[in-house]
This record gives sequence, C-alpha cells and structure tokens, in this order.
Amino acid sequence: MHELSLVMSLWDIVNQELDEKKYKKIEKIYLSAGESLGIINEFFETSFDAVKSERPETKDTKVVLTTEKSIVRCNNCQEQWNYIDSWYLCPKCGLADSEIISGKGLNISSMDVE
Ligand SMILES: [Zn+2]
Repeated sequence: MHELSLVMSLWDIVNQELDEKKYKKIEKIYLSAGESLGIINEFFETSFDAVKSERPETKDTKVVLTTEKSIVRCNNCQEQWNYIDSWYLCPKCGLADSEIISGKGLNISSMDVE
C-alpha cells in the first residue's frame, strides 16, 4: 500500500507551506495523480486521515484527488501511448525502452485556504 508513503510526503509539503505562508486554515487540497501511480482513492483518503497532522490548521482538511492520464514515450522510435494500454512495451517497434513523460507523480493543483 504505497498510498501511505505518498500521503506522508504530501503532508511534508503541506506543513512546509503552512510554516512559510502562515495560513489560518486549509479547507481543501486538490491533487492530481498520475494514472501510473495506481492510487486507489479509498486507500488514499483513509491514509490521509490517518496521517493528518496534529496542527489545528489542518484539523478539517479534505482532499480531492483527480487522476491524470500517464503518457509513455518510446526512446527508440519516439512513439507515445497511454500507460494503461501498455506499461513499457512499445506498440510500434516492440522494444521495452520507454519512459513516462507525463502524469507520473502526485501534485498539488490548488488549495482552499484561509
Ligand atoms: Zn518504439
């Protein structure tokens, strides 16, 4: 269950933001997650609540997770395709020399703050 480690690094970023910007409260965090992460929303939300910091600013913080398409590109022929269609084998030349070029991480899109 890698949702937990993702949530923990998310909280590191959020806490840092709180220290820097001195928000009174964070209402909602909007996240965009690459499809390739294979995040299961339910696990993610459970982990999010479990690891929630003790800080009063984030006591009632909710998380909204949106999945973003992951695009894979072949390093040999430059063909691009959706991660869900094939993880690494190029549908064009058949080589397994590819990398995810977009939708590979977990990013904060925006936050509702006070
Ligand atoms: Zn190829």
